[in-house]
Amino acid sequence: MIELISPNKKQYRANLHCHSTLSDGKKTPQELKEMYKSHGYDVLAITDHERPAQHQDMSDKDFIMLTGYECYIRQDPHGKYNAFEKEIHLNLFAKDPMNVKMICFNEDYCSYLKRDNAISQLERVGSERPREYSVSYVNEYIRTAKDNGYIVAYNHPFWSMESEADILDYEGFFSMEMCNYSSWVQNHLEYNAALYDKMLKMGKRVFCHGSDDNHNKYPTDSILSDSFGAFTMIIPDEFTYSGVIDAMERGNMYASTGPLFHRVCVDGDTVHIECSDVSHAFLYVGSRSPKHIYAEKGTSLNSFDFEINENVRYLRVSIQDSEGRFADTRGFFPDEFR
Ligand SMILES: [Zn+2]
Ligand SMILES: [Zn+2]
Repeated sequence: MIELISPNKKQYRANLHCHSTLSDGKKTPQELKEMYKSHGYDVLAITDHERPAQHQDMSDKDFIMLTGYECYIRQDPHGKYNAFEKEIHLNLFAKDPMNVKMICFNEDYCSYLKRDNAISQLERVGSERPREYSVSYVNEYIRTAKDNGYIVAYNHPFWSMESEADILDYEGFFSMEMCNYSSWVQNHLEYNAALYDKMLKMGKRVFCHGSDDNHNKYPTDSILSDSFGAFTMIIPDEFTYSGVIDAMERGNMYASTGPLFHRVCVDGDTVHIECSDVSHAFLYVGSRSPKHIYAEKGTSLNSFDFEINENVRYLRVSIQDSEGRFADTRGFFPDEFR
């Protein structure tokens, strides 16, 4: 019996993508911490645009602030925004909570740093040649970030309008946003399961997570609020800064907009799932026909099995509740469950 999500390990709720007044968000870092903590979250990464910052004074024994920032690379040689052109956004999470190194600093991308007069204190690493929207530059950028103590996540592919070919050629990011709630609620219904399965079918060992990417332009009780919509459940060995980063890096997490997994285990050819009440579930195995199970009308499921055979390329479970909210595990490959 192999436990992929163990019922004996505590899960911690995280928002891994969030903007504050340090860039274009409406809430201060302190307000964001209070909002998320009082809403039952345990982990928050404030990831302001091209604005590395650490908020460790706000961490406490029950709440961990992750250090990081969001970077972007645009097609315009001076980084000018164009809503009709694709671009890429990446979230950088620091393994060392005090690491605020700026990767591949570029004058054209640092309006928030300039606004705060923060450029002079920056530690700058990596090439400062003009940024270039190309697979090779993006891969070099990700490598540089990793060499300097960050783990790198790939953000909102649908909003970014990137081509699938580009995305599948990127190397080195540990996880992709399965759901970006700000984009979901205000733009696109951004849910990237199909793209994620393409990565897994190519054998890419990439994880998935959910995040708000909240800017809080609307109050939290508004239908357009971008807070508390998509989140990541992290399952660390110990609830410390390094324990949380380590769990993310090892894929001990899943993405959700509501439902929770309590257990996913494999016993021979049986995949057993225990979860909060859902209306249906899918098991993706890398073929064109995922397996499905539906609750009878007026009932729900919270414990069920799927049978698998030796042909499965990977396992990925998706559950959906009666309100249309879903949760998705990452892909697990046979060497992890056989
Ligand atoms: Zn973004
Ligand atoms: Zn963002």
